[in-house]
Amino acid sequence: MKIQFCGATTGVTGSCHLLQTDKYKVLLDCGQFQGGKSQDALNYEDFPFEPSEINCLVLSHAHIDHCGRIPLLVKRGFHGPVYCTKATADLLPIMLRDSAYIHEKEAEWANKKGQRKGEKPVEPLYTVDDAERALALITPIQYDQKIDINDEIRICYDEAGHILGSAITELWVRESDGETKIVFSGDIGVMDRPILRDPTFIESADYIIMESTYGDRLHPQNAMSIQQLVDVVLRTVRRGGTVVIPAFAVGRTQEMIYEFNKLYDEHPEEYQELKDIMVYVDSPMASRATEVFKENASVFDEKTQEYLVRGDHPLEFRNLIFTQSTEESQRLNEDDHPKVIISASGMCEAGRIKHHLKHHLWNPKSTIVFVGYQAEGTLGRHLIEGAESVNLFGEEVMVKAEIVNLEGFSGHADMNGLLDWAEAFKTDPTFFLVHGEEQSKKNLAKLLRDRGATVIVIEENSEFELKPGEKLSSSETTVGGDSLAFDYGLSKDELHMLRNKISEIESEIGDVLSSAELATGKKISQDKLVRINNIIQDLDSSIKELRSVLVQE
Ligand SMILES: [Zn+2]
Repeated sequence: MKIQFCGATTGVTGSCHLLQTDKYKVLLDCGQFQGGKSQDALNYEDFPFEPSEINCLVLSHAHIDHCGRIPLLVKRGFHGPVYCTKATADLLPIMLRDSAYIHEKEAEWANKKGQRKGEKPVEPLYTVDDAERALALITPIQYDQKIDINDEIRICYDEAGHILGSAITELWVRESDGETKIVFSGDIGVMDRPILRDPTFIESADYIIMESTYGDRLHPQNAMSIQQLVDVVLRTVRRGGTVVIPAFAVGRTQEMIYEFNKLYDEHPEEYQELKDIMVYVDSPMASRATEVFKENASVFDEKTQEYLVRGDHPLEFRNLIFTQSTEESQRLNEDDHPKVIISASGMCEAGRIKHHLKHHLWNPKSTIVFVGYQAEGTLGRHLIEGAESVNLFGEEVMVKAEIVNLEGFSGHADMNGLLDWAEAFKTDPTFFLVHGEEQSKKNLAKLLRDRGATVIVIEENSEFELKPGEKLSSSETTVGGDSLAFDYGLSKDELHMLRNKISEIESEIGDVLSSAELATGKKISQDKLVRINNIIQDLDSSIKELRSVLVQE
């Protein structure tokens, strides 16, 4: 069996790995690359496999960096089943239609601009129609059920505790020379989080494909962040301000609703102060996602189930209002009665949140509370880093509101969480580390090796042959990847040309040096000097060529 790492190899997005036996090709995830122009360009490249040859896709969860290229895969010829949990199947229509809509809008916008410059029209990465065709392939399966997806491969989904429907996948691959067990972690969640069950600890595997997002960081305690959230709401309301919470529509928003439900239900003293304070969820996508949460209560954790048994839905309370229309959304900023507004997008890059920021950032009475990761370069990141003013809709807005960053609400296990999960394995497996920045992967690798584990850090798109009963060595590095293409967005042909040039030059240098004259200090003939000179010229022009390609990017 072969395993090919095709995404989330140099960073945390674009999750995509291919398992290949003599008979079958199974894809694990098909995520979108995210994070600026260079990452976005990777989405348009060819897949390092033929989409029509993939027999099926096994999806870990509904985040776009894990599922966002499925419609593209379908557009390029894939037509097999897409396996996922039932809750993921319910979230995918929201995620993929929204993503397709954004791609269509972006292309439309680029074409309007390009037309004026006389440029050729660009195609969206995929359309809403492509997304619909992908959605038709979804094949939901239950957690904890062993399912034969063909005559060689059996899978089982276990709770990952990361977002609703998220799964850790166990795969048993039976080939003529024996059986191999692979565990794909997907994204691993945090213990004791609201609503979701804890991530599953698994004891046996031969190989583990493991995420390492926070391989070098620890999170503050979640309980501390909840207390801070309560404090910040009270002090904002007392001074007559509004609390604005940018939150991801799927996951974090529901977690916020859960915490506010608790605050309103279980704290009668505070409630006296808050009984006229309404909590608005102002994001159509978040409203739809909340409905999906309610329909999937069977996968909630025990504590949340207890709420339901008592007849108190944890995602409903008297002061909670979901706004739908644009008019309703605009009306929120017409009166200045204190309130809580939860809106998307979580990093303030798009969506209704930008309007709320425009209305509240200048107001020293109001507070902006961040409850999720803010990527470099985003408006959210600028705000938590203390920007004095920001540009919104072409207008300079002073930042006078209180800015609070609560870090305890992560959906990803931190360094200790990852180590605990990895240490549960009792079978001395080999770890392939993916889905992390370089430092994070290296740190986790070191910690695991210190504990005696065999670890391979995946640093570029690469491939490994796995043989039952044979172990890969820990020091083995990745081979034959396209890291240049990934770092610089070179096309396959450009990369191929560059490689050929470099190997030509290398062999010439080898010829010259292996004649040993240089090493022995003998006089170099005129003929050889000319050859060396030519090699240097070649090298120089190759570098220039490479530069010009990079400048075009
Ligand atoms: Zn995720």
